[in-house]
Amino acid sequence: MPPAPLIADLRSDTVTTPTPQMRAAMAAAAVGDDVYGEDPTVNALQQEVARLTGHEAGLFMPSGTMTNQVAIALHTQRGHEVICAEGSHIYEWELGMMAAFSGVVPRFVHAPLGIPDPEGVRAAVRRSIHQSPSGLISLENTHNKAGGTVIPLEVLAGIRAVADQEGLPLHLDGARVFNAAAALDVPLSDITGQFDTVSVCLSKGLGAPVGSVLVGSKAQMAQAHRYRKMMGGGMRQAGILAAAALVALQDGPALLKEDHRRARQLAEALAGAGFAVNLAAVQTNIIYATLPDAAAHAARWAAAGVHANALGPDSVRFVLHHQVTDEALERAIGVLTGAVVQA
Ligand SMILES: *Cc1c(COP(=O)(O)O)cnc(C)c1O
Repeated sequence: MPPAPLIADLRSDTVTTPTPQMRAAMAAAAVGDDVYGEDPTVNALQQEVARLTGHEAGLFMPSGTMTNQVAIALHTQRGHEVICAEGSHIYEWELGMMAAFSGVVPRFVHAPLGIPDPEGVRAAVRRSIHQSPSGLISLENTHNKAGGTVIPLEVLAGIRAVADQEGLPLHLDGARVFNAAAALDVPLSDITGQFDTVSVCLSKGLGAPVGSVLVGSKAQMAQAHRYRKMMGGGMRQAGILAAAALVALQDGPALLKEDHRRARQLAEALAGAGFAVNLAAVQTNIIYATLPDAAAHAARWAAAGVHANALGPDSVRFVLHHQVTDEALERAIGVLTGAVVQA
């Protein structure tokens, strides 16, 4: 049977394809050798992300895994612990790289809805000579595995205060920090300004084809440049990618609230059709639903043109992005809710 025509690809917000504006900007981009720091479009992108986040400097890299892992290398020494929320991407989905590259181990703090409590973070700090010392606190906002949840600003301020009192650096895995800013309706820098370094993905909801930017101080970015090269992330005429990312930065943020509205609409439709969805966790563009035989359901939906990610035996994830229109969403809801009724 030929595959059904695509209705909606809800597996991730990484599946978007470059817009015509991005393609045009890529074709016209001024470029140079970025390993020498000579690509004007990459330099413009780095400056723009630094400006928006309230940091001194930025460094463009191929992926968010690389920006996170370079940040961990910057802040830690071998044998350190990285304090992070349970379920953090830096551990769950970065293939043990914090151990493989930086020689550090995670120390998880309990984080209902992905939000650690400042006192829980303080209690995780270790200094005894009999234990591995804390080297870094790392947060994730929005928190992917918890359902795209947002850290309230007062919790952030509390954790910043703990970091200061304990003399620890604070990193943000901000793969979807633009979604957090949109959900809170605050300028991005209200969030990102609280951190020593921030990793920002341009290829998630903002829609760029490739890339993330790490921001921090000039001195940190000079050191990050070396770690990026060690990881094989030194790209040459990367301005063609940065050009698309600049368009994503320009056009992307304003579209996120619509993604959030559609996620809410889908979540409520799923809940209404009998799916187990924690509506309190649906704060941005991600929805997790619990249902038996998730993979079999996902395969059936895919055959009907709606793609979702079965991330566990009884867990399926839907992610909204700017290339799912209202009309496509209506049709997708028909397929998804119809399938449950038949089951
Ligand atoms: C997607 C993502 C990243 C980076 O992933 P890459 O695929 O390496 O770009 C990092 N953190 C979170 C929370 C993510 O969702």
